[in-house]
Formats: sequence, C-alpha cells, structure tokens
Amino acid sequence: MKKILTALLAGTMALTMLAGCGSKPAENNGAQGDANNNAAASGETLRMGTNATFPPYEFYGDNGTDIVGIDADIAKAIADKLGMTLEIVDQDFDSLPAALEAGSIDIAAAGMTVTPDRQTQMDFSESYATGVQVVIVPENSDIKSIDDLTGKLIGVQQGTTGDIYCAADPADGGYGEDAVRRFNSGPLAVEALKNGQVDCVVIDQEPAKNYVAANAGLSILDTEFAVEDYAIGIKKGNTELLDKVNSALQELKADGTIDQIIGTYIKAE
Ligand code: GLN
Repeated sequence: MKKILTALLAGTMALTMLAGCGSKPAENNGAQGDANNNAAASGETLRMGTNATFPPYEFYGDNGTDIVGIDADIAKAIADKLGMTLEIVDQDFDSLPAALEAGSIDIAAAGMTVTPDRQTQMDFSESYATGVQVVIVPENSDIKSIDDLTGKLIGVQQGTTGDIYCAADPADGGYGEDAVRRFNSGPLAVEALKNGQVDCVVIDQEPAKNYVAANAGLSILDTEFAVEDYAIGIKKGNTELLDKVNSALQELKADGTIDQIIGTYIKAE
C-alpha cells in the first residue's frame, strides 16, 4: 500500500503545489520578509519553520506564546548538540518549501512526510517518526470505512499528503479535485466538519486524536489511509547542515532522547 501511495504522491504533488500558490498566508506568517538572509545555520541561530496547529508535534503551550511539541523538542535537542540557539517560525504548512528555498528558515520540522516530489524541492534528514493518515468523521456518519468516501466532501489541510492523496484523480486512487475542500490548518478543517461543510477530514493520526479529544461527537475510522515517514526538511544542496542534523539525530536516537521526547507527548495506549 505504501508503494502505491508513494507513486501516487509522486504524480500529483506538482499539481497540488500549483494549486497552493493562490492561498492566503496565515496572519502570523513570520517567515516572510527575511528572504535575503541566506546565512542558513552559519551563525548561532537555527531557524525552524513549522505550522503550530499540529499537536502533539507542534502547538502553543499553556502560556499561549511558546511553541512546544515533539518537533520543537527534537529541534531544540539538535540545536543544543550543534551549539546553536533554536528559533521557531510559525507559518502555513504549504509555505515551508518556499521558505527553505528562500533561506528564511534553516529547517522545516513539521511532521512533514517524505514524498518523492518534496525530495525534488528539498533535502530530508533521516526519518525520526512514522505518520499515519486517518479519517475523522462525525459519530453518526454513514462513512464506516475508506470505501465509503466516494461521493463525499473531504476536508484537508492545504498542501499536506492528505490533500495530495484525496485530490488525486480517481484513476490514480484519489477522489478528484472536486471532492476536496482545503483549509489552512487541521483545526479549521475540523471546524468545517463540525459545521457540516465537509463529510470527513483526512489528516495525520496523532493530531487527529488531539482534535477528536477536544471536540465532542467526532471519531476516527479504524482503517488507516496510509503509513508515512516524517523527516526534517533542509534547503536542497545544504549538505553541511544536512550532515550535522543527521549526526545529531543519530546520537539522539542512540541515547534514547528521541524515544523519550515522543513518549512525553504520545502515551502508549
Ligand atoms: N504529514 C503531513 C504532510 O507532510 C501533514 C503535516 C502537517 O500538516 N504539518 O503533508
């Protein structure tokens, strides 16, 4: 199944990126205006781009100002290893590839799935976690499995693999452009589901669990949509930073830090 999805992602990403060009940036799109700063990782600061609506990977902590989560903690541990200070930039998920390219961020740590198309736009670190695409439905929905999605309106977060997969041509295993409604964040897609504007939401499993826990009347289908690898995105060709990040990741995996960080945010069931 993963193979099929990977091939599908390869074929449809270009289209989706084009469709994404017209999207409005989020209010707090902090990555803009810094495009000339190309000193990626040569100084003291490691700038991490993310979209902080994606718990438990990145979200605003209790004080409402600090971005916390698995990606934030892993990036902090990497920055510590490299003797750098971590700075987190919150922006739309689908603006991360361009921000890397422009040099306004050094790394993209955003529960980002490795896809062949993205690999043409950026380099990826080794994977640090597994992601799963799932389907959120209202508890009384007539959607009981993935087979029931045909003819339904599907909410997705713009530019994510859920978007790419669902908007693909039916001949390629998707549901077609007309079946998909795109939102700037997972919570906005879930809000639309609660308001009856879409019939389901296809999104990553761990954020889905958080959204369902925070909103009564929703549930997650048992069938998994796709299994994916999360990795850190780095500007294409910046092998110096890529090597440093990979070395740091290897050490953090070997000494149990990565498992410990993931275990802090995702409790075994
Ligand atoms: N894993 C999904 C992707 O890479 C979603 C990531 C996200 O929304 N932050 O497309």
